[in-house]
Amino acid sequence: MNSDNLVIAVDGPAASGKGTLSRRVAHFYGLAYLDTGSLYRGVGWLMLSKGLSPRNVEEIEVAASTLTLEQLDNADIRTPDVGRAASVVAAIPEVRQALLQYQRQYATNPPAGKRGAILDGRDIGTVVCPDASVKFFVDAAAEVRAERRWRELFQHNNSLTLDQVLDDIRRRDTRDATRTAAPMKAAQDAHLIDTSLLDIDAAFAAVRRVIDKALA
Ligand code: C5P
Repeated sequence: MNSDNLVIAVDGPAASGKGTLSRRVAHFYGLAYLDTGSLYRGVGWLMLSKGLSPRNVEEIEVAASTLTLEQLDNADIRTPDVGRAASVVAAIPEVRQALLQYQRQYATNPPAGKRGAILDGRDIGTVVCPDASVKFFVDAAAEVRAERRWRELFQHNNSLTLDQVLDDIRRRDTRDATRTAAPMKAAQDAHLIDTSLLDIDAAFAAVRRVIDKALA
C-alpha cells in the first residue's frame, strides 16, 4: 500500500457513528477529513431555500456545481428537513456527478500538510474512492441510531419524538439504499463495524487495529 497518500473510505447510514469515528481517525493519523454528507446537505438546503422542486433537475444541478464552502459554513444544514432534502437530491445522477470531482480531488490532494484523507458518506468505498487504502462500513440497528439522533436533535427541538426520528431514519435508509445512482452499500472489501453495542472508544480501537495492520 502507498502510505504516502493514505485514503480511508467510511460509509454507513445516518447516525451510525461514522462521523465521530472519522473525525477521531483524522485527528489521530493526521489526515484531512471530508464529511461528504455536508455537500449533499448543502444542495438540499439550496433546493429548499430557493423553493426548487426535486423535479427541477437543471437548477438543482447548477446549485450542486456552484456550491461553495462558504455557503456550507453559513447555512443551517443539520436540520431534519435538510437531511430529507439531501437524500432526495442525492438520488439525482447529475447532482452526484457534479459533486464527484471535488470529492476525488480532496482524496488525492488533501489540504496542505496532511498525509492523506478520510472521507465519509454512502458511496465512498464503492464509487468515489474505489481504490482507497482502507474501507469501513459503519452500521448500527435503526433503533439505536434513532435514539442517538433524537438525543442530539431534542436539544434544539423538544417537540420531536423518538418515533418521528426512527421513521425519518428508516425512510432515509430505504431511499439511500434503493436508489439507482450510487446506492448506499458496503464495498466488498470494506471492514464492517457494528456500533450497536460499541461505544466510541471500542469502535475506534477496532478501526485502529485495521488501519495499523494495513499500514504495517
Ligand atoms: O451523512 P448525512 O446524513 O449528513 O448525509 C445526508 C444525505 O446525503 C444522506 O441521507 C444521503 O442521501 C446523502 N449522501 C449521499 N452520498 C454521500 C453522502 C451523503 O448520497 N457520499
